[in-house]
Amino acid sequence: MSEPNWSDLFRLLSGMARLFQSCSTEEELFDVADWYIPRMFEGVDGAIHLFADADAKARSFTWGESESIATPPDMESNATLVKGQPLLIAPDAPAQGGCAAGTLTVPIIAAKRPLGVLQLAATEAEALENAQGMAFITAEHMALTVDNIRIRTRLKNLAVKDALTGLFNRRFFDESMNRETREAQETGAPLSVVMFDIDHFKNLNDTKGHDAGDVALQSVGRFLGATAGENDIPCRYGGEEFFFIMKGSNYEQALEMGETIRAGIAALNITHGEIQVSPINVSVGVALYPDHGDTPDKLAKAADLCLYHAKEHGRNQVVGYETIKK
Ligand code: GH3
Ligand code: MG
Ligand code: MG
Repeated sequence: MSEPNWSDLFRLLSGMARLFQSCSTEEELFDVADWYIPRMFEGVDGAIHLFADADAKARSFTWGESESIATPPDMESNATLVKGQPLLIAPDAPAQGGCAAGTLTVPIIAAKRPLGVLQLAATEAEALENAQGMAFITAEHMALTVDNIRIRTRLKNLAVKDALTGLFNRRFFDESMNRETREAQETGAPLSVVMFDIDHFKNLNDTKGHDAGDVALQSVGRFLGATAGENDIPCRYGGEEFFFIMKGSNYEQALEMGETIRAGIAALNITHGEIQVSPINVSVGVALYPDHGDTPDKLAKAADLCLYHAKEHGRNQVVGYETIKK
């Protein structure tokens, strides 16, 4: 970066800031950043690294060839960065706390929390010095925008997610059933639901404790979240009852998923301190829209009837509506 062209830089910066405001996901933000930021730091290599937190995964992009900034430094082990201060290391100076020679590292911070870093790399000290001001402003814009997006995501999750399991809550289930049945009716695409309930869960609570019961629910939640494809909506319906809405899946596919869930949960190894919580079993009901129920309520009821049938016939099994309707 030789003598910066300030009017170009400010045009880029204000364009980026304007578009940042309309980003509602970090993916969108990175699309915008990936276009603007390298153009604002012409002649120097760089990277943006965002760290993962409870509501977001880690995310990076780089420009230029420098390997020295391809991965983020460990903030905790760097005396300068841990204080939230930028760190410039001249090309002829020794590396420092995970930052290489010839780099500028600017923490991206919101409310004193490090969200990530902006890093630049160059072979001349002057290039890094010239880029410093722009790096601070850019890191500040990134911080504000990422923080905003994460706050909005957190609020949205609070409204639709169950706190214990991380799955969608009952309210979101109800809304989803309304929306998905309407859409299936319009498009003619298949729609299935898999419902299940943990067997003898009261007994587990009574013998191993309520906390062990909670750990079991969390484990089931993690399993279900990991098992869900992009067209599946995993929900905690209440207590130890769960619904798995499968957009675009027919009856056979839903039965298969029912078995995957039953066998997968039976195979979980769950412990709580010294207490062996697993194995746990589930009884599963499967129903197809509109064949087994042509409204959200009737569809859920059909799955519930299957579940009841599974409980009555020995639990730990999958029952589809075609089996019980005869
Ligand atoms: P079945 O095989 O017939 O389903 O028997 P069950 O014991 O699983 O069913 P029941 O309806 O008798 O008991 C459900 C138990 O689930 C009772 C309730 O205390 C427990 N439960 C509901 N929500 C939670 C929770 O969030 N945490 C814990 N630990 N237990 C819960
Ligand atoms: Mg139960
Ligand atoms: Mg129950």
